[in-house]
Order: sequence, then structure tokens, then C-alpha cells
Amino acid sequence: MDFKQKIRVVQDFPKEGIRFKDITTLMKDGEAYKLAISNIADLVTGLDVDVIVGPEARGFVIGAPLAIHLGKGFVPVRKSGKLPGEIVESAYDLEYGKDTLAIHKDAIEPGQKVLIADDLLATGGTIATTIDLIEKLGGIVVGCVFLIELTYLDGRDKINGDYPVHSLVKY
Ligand code: 5GP
Repeated sequence: MDFKQKIRVVQDFPKEGIRFKDITTLMKDGEAYKLAISNIADLVTGLDVDVIVGPEARGFVIGAPLAIHLGKGFVPVRKSGKLPGEIVESAYDLEYGKDTLAIHKDAIEPGQKVLIADDLLATGGTIATTIDLIEKLGGIVVGCVFLIELTYLDGRDKINGDYPVHSLVKY
């Protein structure tokens, strides 16, 4: 399937100069959504994973179905102030804006093997912060998967680990 045909590109959203990749047009198509998750799962075949972590909010719509597909648990990384339990936090820059991400302290056991999933890799700030949170808890990142990668923003350069980084659709 040509997933690019299912992704709507919106010029100047949420700021001028940004060509936003809108995945809602892919997700509303049941066949495309299911195939995307299944193809993302194929990208990590053979990887030894205990749990999947996805950052708010679109990391949930990739990470959670991927977790079910692989029979693994899912751990959310959320914006500050959203998680009810004890948390660790880390501040980060976005392609547009600034924010703080948080994870529950008891969400990952030391030594657990973590696969990170998100909808889109842009500058890599979100993923670098998510990696930081996982490593603060003693988790071991074993890979990162994305539905979309904006290769011209070189987000991969912010992921310095010795593990695979895969994306299904590249712009
Ligand atoms: P980064 O931190 O890599 O610069 O930005 C990636 C994060 O911002 C992802 O969590 C993603 O959801 C969001 N994001 C940035 N640009 C886009 C875009 O064009 N489309 C979508 N769907 N999300 C984006």
C-alpha cells in the first residue's frame, strides 16, 4: 500500500513554514491503519522486547496497537501534569514549541527492554527526551519505530544508541 496517499499534508500548520503530516486520514481507513501497524511490527521482527513506550499523544495511536499486535505491554509518556502517580520528568524542545514529558516511576523495571514507538520522527527532541526518561528508570532501549520520518530534519542524529531506528514512510 502507498501510505503516503493516505497521509494528508497540511501546509503552514500549526505554524507558517511547517508541512504537517496529518495521520488522521490514514487512521480512519481501517485497512490502511491495520496494515500500517502490521508493517511496523514487521520492521522489529526478531527484536527482544519487554514493553513498548509511546509519547503523548500520537505515540499512543501507534504504540498501543503495536503493543497489542506484539502481545506486549504499553507504557505512556505524557505531558507534565497528566500522570497521577509518582513521576520522573524531562524538558525538551519541539519542532514547534517547548514542553516537559513525564513517565511513571514504576512503569519500567531496571533492565527491562524497551521499544519506543511514535507517529513521526522530526527533529528527534521528543524521542531523545523519551529515551532519557526510560534510561533514568534503568530501562534499556532496544529500538525505535516510527510511522513517519522527516529525513531532512536529521532526527536520527539525536538518537545515539546502539539499536535500530526504523520508519515506515519517509519524506
Ligand atoms: P520531534 O520532537 O522529533 O521534533 O517531533 C516529533 C513529535 O512531534 C512527534 O511526537 C509528533 O507527534 C509531533 N509532530 C511534529 N511534526 C509533526 C507532523 O508533521 N505530523 C505529525 N502527525 N506529528 C508531528
